[in-house]
Amino acid sequence: EVARAALERLVVDVPDFPEPGVVFKDITPLLADHDGLTAVVAALAEAGRDGDGTPVVDKVVGMEARGFILAAPVALALGAGFVPVRKAGKLPREAHAVSYALEYAEATLELHRDAIAPGERVLLVDDVLATGGTVRATRELVAACGGTPVGVSVLMELGFLAGREVVGDLPVHSIAVI
Ligand code: IMP
Repeated sequence: EVARAALERLVVDVPDFPEPGVVFKDITPLLADHDGLTAVVAALAEAGRDGDGTPVVDKVVGMEARGFILAAPVALALGAGFVPVRKAGKLPREAHAVSYALEYAEATLELHRDAIAPGERVLLVDDVLATGGTVRATRELVAACGGTPVGVSVLMELGFLAGREVVGDLPVHSIAVI
C-alpha cells in the first residue's frame, strides 16, 4: 500500500556504512517527504489499534535515535504519551538498565523508572528490526517498570537476520520485510 510504496521510493541503501559489508537503510529522505512521513506514521500506528481502529496503548516507546523521530508522532496519532529508551548515561533520573551483546561489544539501554506506570500498555517503535537485540532489551525495560508490551512496529525488518525470533512472542508489525 501507500506506506510500503513510500519506503521503496524514499529509503536509500548505502553500501558499506557504517562499516564494510553493511548496507545501511537511510530513512532521512523519507522523513523529509511530507506525504511519505504521513503514510508511514499512520501505518506504524495501526499496530496500536484494535480491529475497530480504537487505540489500545497508553505509551509509545521509541529507541534512540531514529525510533524517537517515529514514535513521537505515532504517540500523538494514538492519543498516547511518548517515552524514550536511551543509550547508557543519557537519562538524568533513576532508570532501569538492560545490557545486551552486540557482535564485538555490549550495549546498554535505559528507561526512566517512572516513565511507564504498572499495567500500562506499551507499543515499541523503531525504524529497523535487525538482529532483534534492541527490541528484546526494550521489552525487558518496559517489563521492569511493570508495563505490558503489546507489540513492536517497525518500518523495515531485515528478514535474513531472524530478529523476530529473538524478540519472542511479542507481535512484530513491519511495513516491509526485506
Ligand atoms: P538490532 O538490535 O540488531 O535489531 O538493530 C536495530 C537497531 O539498529 C535499530 O535501532 C536501528 O535503528 C539500527 N539499525 C540496524 N540496521 C540499520 C539500518 O540498516 N539502517 C538504520 N538503522 C539500522
